[in-house]
Amino acid sequence: MDYLSLSAWEIAEKIKNKEISSVEVTKLSLERAKELNKTINGYITICEEEALKKAAEVDAKISNGEEVSPLAGVPYAMKDNICTKNILTTCGSKMLYNFKPPYDAFVTKRLDEADCVLIGKANMDEFAMGSTNETSYFGPVKNPRNTDRVPGGSSGGSGAIVAADMAYFAIGSDTGGSVRLPASFCGVTGLKPTYGLVSRFGLVAFASSLDQIGPITKNAKDAALVMNIISAYDSMDSTSLNVERPDYAEGLNGNLKGIKIALPKEYFAGASEEVLAKTNAAIEKLKSLGAEITEVSLPISEYALAAYYIISSAEASSNLARYDGVKYGFRAEEYTDIIDMYRKTRGEGFGAEVKRRIMIGTYALSSGYYDAYYKKAQQVRGLVKKHYDELFEKFDLIASPVYSTTALKLGEKRTDPVELYANDLCTVSANITGIPAISVPCGNTSDDMPVGLQLMAKPFDEKLLLKTANIFEKEGGNN
Ligand code: GLN
Repeated sequence: MDYLSLSAWEIAEKIKNKEISSVEVTKLSLERAKELNKTINGYITICEEEALKKAAEVDAKISNGEEVSPLAGVPYAMKDNICTKNILTTCGSKMLYNFKPPYDAFVTKRLDEADCVLIGKANMDEFAMGSTNETSYFGPVKNPRNTDRVPGGSSGGSGAIVAADMAYFAIGSDTGGSVRLPASFCGVTGLKPTYGLVSRFGLVAFASSLDQIGPITKNAKDAALVMNIISAYDSMDSTSLNVERPDYAEGLNGNLKGIKIALPKEYFAGASEEVLAKTNAAIEKLKSLGAEITEVSLPISEYALAAYYIISSAEASSNLARYDGVKYGFRAEEYTDIIDMYRKTRGEGFGAEVKRRIMIGTYALSSGYYDAYYKKAQQVRGLVKKHYDELFEKFDLIASPVYSTTALKLGEKRTDPVELYANDLCTVSANITGIPAISVPCGNTSDDMPVGLQLMAKPFDEKLLLKTANIFEKEGGNN
């Protein structure tokens, strides 16, 4: 039996039935993770000792007949910008190369309480800034489908780990597409929840008004089960929503009759022929399953992209001001006085992409330019929200490609940041408006690279996204 290729819920059932123990599964995952990491580089840290200890605890609970959660004993990976107590949390940066948080993030704690087994910390773009995972201080991640290609970013390690069976699921963070893009490039499922559903406590901030934690999984049912664990109100996050959460794993089957789906033509305009062919085939599939499809126009999209880069960089420049070499993390070795220490620490500790964002953000927030850039971007944000609200009065879902191409070649766009930014067109609006969005695998191109279909929904409509994804998957949409 190839236990590693099973999904999270499938292996969880086998652990519960005592067909295999959590310790055995964890050992298998660790072996695979260590072996493949030599080529894939998906993990920055593998925590073997802690994982085996946790797995043994879960096995003891199960043999004592204790009630355990639906994903108990299942090995998973955490993106390295989410705090794990006493386990290295680097954010893919030299600045935090030695940072071991004294506390767990809310999601880490929830997964631990649900008896999931953390086996390692996933590689990522530095401070989650990027689309290819090439800005990581710990080196690029390779796409398991083709190691000449990137896995997507910024949660590239999380995407590659799940695609290569180096863990059963992974947690990522999505500020402008970073859960959905790696899912799309690696051929797995990635959900960005409604802003405020999953606590950001212990998630190292990139852009606080856009950041949201989400699952990367092998299928929609796994994503639903992970959501059941990580989505809860948290008084430690002032933007956490105190609303009732549904059982995300319930009602995933059924049909799509009468579901109204809008296709904004702007999101299809720049897509490559092969991406377009796969996305259109996916839409035809949804139609054959009963969905009603309508082409619409959303000209605001272009401006949403510009607003995203102003707002995210402005918030990043403010959030990253805390890294000064004083309290924790990297400190430059040689300096003359405290100002020189700050300067050298930040100069040596941050990579080029992070510095670029800090400069854009600081410029946009500076007193002479605040009205022209930051304030304008916030006004655009309001408009984008309005246009999306109007669309959702008539439609249940919005469908689009996730990205204009399949996984880029390593090094392909590294020298052209603006072109790379422009390609985030399809994903950033979900963050600008706070709505949930999912990337679902919808087939492979002639060179066998996966394509992802993006579905966006109204706030709190994760269940519709998961149900649609589940039905699509079951009906062979990924062929
Ligand atoms: N690619 C986008 C950026 O570089 C999104 C990153 C993210 O979602 N963390 O900002």
